[in-house]
Amino acid sequence: MATFCTYGYYKADDDKRTPLIDPEAAAVVQRIFKMRASGMGHKSIADALNQEHITPPLDYKYDKLGRTYPLYSHHLWNAQTIRRILDNQMYLGKLVQMKETTVSYKNHKVIRNDESEWVIVENNHEPIISQELWDKVRERDRSVSRGRITTERITSPLSGLCYCDSCGAKMKMQKTPESKSPYSYRCGLHVRYGKSFCTSHNIRGTILEQLILEDIRRQIDFVTNDDKARAKYLARKQGNIALVMAEDNKRKREIEKRLDDLGKLMQKIYEDRVLGNMPDKACAELLEQYQQEKEDLQAELNELRKRFDGYKREEEDVDEFIRRLKSYAGAEELTRQMCLELIEYVTIDKYVDMKTQRDIHIYYKLIDKPLRDKTNALA
Ligand SMILES: [Zn+2]
Repeated sequence: MATFCTYGYYKADDDKRTPLIDPEAAAVVQRIFKMRASGMGHKSIADALNQEHITPPLDYKYDKLGRTYPLYSHHLWNAQTIRRILDNQMYLGKLVQMKETTVSYKNHKVIRNDESEWVIVENNHEPIISQELWDKVRERDRSVSRGRITTERITSPLSGLCYCDSCGAKMKMQKTPESKSPYSYRCGLHVRYGKSFCTSHNIRGTILEQLILEDIRRQIDFVTNDDKARAKYLARKQGNIALVMAEDNKRKREIEKRLDDLGKLMQKIYEDRVLGNMPDKACAELLEQYQQEKEDLQAELNELRKRFDGYKREEEDVDEFIRRLKSYAGAEELTRQMCLELIEYVTIDKYVDMKTQRDIHIYYKLIDKPLRDKTNALA
């Protein structure tokens, strides 16, 4: 049985376990490098692959092994997956060794070596991409980090804060020919891929801004005239936190359980190897696979832990929100700064017809559920 190692390769059955090109995945790797070289962002590349229903690496690996990926997953590409592929020198035919040294399988201690200690073996196997393409991608990395310059002259106060309620995509500002409003907001997924992916969710800029300004004024009124405003905001915030914490806790337990299982699996393989029950080659392959999964989970767990630390500052947040609100007392119009200080994000319901009511959800900064992923409000 062939073992699939790094996406794009599988390992030969010879003693050296030389990586061989898996044409199906290698074609995708090449496309990713070319897309990046042509200037596409990591997220856009992931989107494009998802649109074509191309199986992402981990699912692909499990598919080939005839098993299903054991953890909860969207089965989609994301920016991180793309970044990892673009950073992997293996695609140049190089073997990078000693990236990590597993000290003991028993207590799973891993010592990460400095980059300077990496041993790079050139021409170890057949490359998937050329040095030229690799260099182009690096060049692209340097140029995009400088930021994008838009030709759009109008800056909407809500720019970048509106999301589609149905698919979670960012709403895009588009110029409109009508005089009532110079621009409208539309679901970004709809704008890019058409109505089979999401409906337009079209809303006129002036209407949306008016609605939001009115709601902000209501909040200002509330903190000015209601003695219980602080307590009510605190309750609202705690309710939201409880919800987010429950989700995070569930995920944390899932990860811990899987890490525990992985530890046992790795221990078992180690023992089998000592007892000679399993060929060395098979052991090493399985261990490598589990090690990768373990690393991914550990990274996610660290992120979660950081979030738990942040959940503690509730009262300070509420006071800060009230202070900000009060500073806008008497505001006549919605300004960009006001939106950035007060609003975490806004979601916009679909448009059915003139008679059907639509919901606009305003998530306030410091009070409501934080936006977890700037690229998708439903993530
Ligand atoms: Zn949408």
